[in-house]
This record gives sequence, structure tokens and C-alpha cells, in this order.
Amino acid sequence: MTGVEWSMNTTCCARCQSVSVVKNGHVKSGKQRFLCRACGYQFTFEASWHRISPEQEALVDRLLSERLSHRGICRVSSVSRSWLRLHLKKLQKLVVHRVEDEVVSAKKA
Ligand SMILES: [Zn+2]
Repeated sequence: MTGVEWSMNTTCCARCQSVSVVKNGHVKSGKQRFLCRACGYQFTFEASWHRISPEQEALVDRLLSERLSHRGICRVSSVSRSWLRLHLKKLQKLVVHRVEDEVVSAKKA
């Protein structure tokens, strides 16, 4: 699973990031409710979840590099804390991947 696919449309648990997630009815406001089969956590995606634009994501990345607090980043770029948490997780995976690539190419050299 690449970061790109993940950010496009994979539904994963907001708590444990497992992809063993099933639809579990709707909440009163009409939002889709999900149930994680891995940890049993029930959650809905916040309204902002699907509306994070590439520009917004780029802004978050820029703010992250400025070492702003997560709270501050969410306020400035109007993303939710849960989205930011998942975004950070995704970034960590990408970084780990990149480091592995470097190790491999270093061995070859
Ligand atoms: Zn879970």
C-alpha cells in the first residue's frame, strides 16, 4: 500500500489504522459510520476528511517544516487533528521507506 493510494480512498481505522473496516450504519447527521474489526472502534470521518485539497496538504507540510505545534497547524490550515495524525503517520511511512531505499543503494555502491 503506497501513501498515494492511502490518501485517495482507503478507509482505515481512525484509531489503529487497520483497513479491516466495515460500514456500520449512519449517525443521525447522516455521516457514514464505520466499525473497525481489528480493534472494535466505531468512528465517522469528520466532514473535513474528504475535503483536504492538495493545496491544503502542501500547506500542512510547509507548516510542519516550520515546526509549528500540531494545534497551530490545524488552526491555520483548517484540517482536523485526526487528519493531521493520520497524515503524520503516512509521512513517517514514507520517510522509513526512503531511508530503506538509501540503505539498499548504499550497499550496492
Ligand atoms: Zn482499529
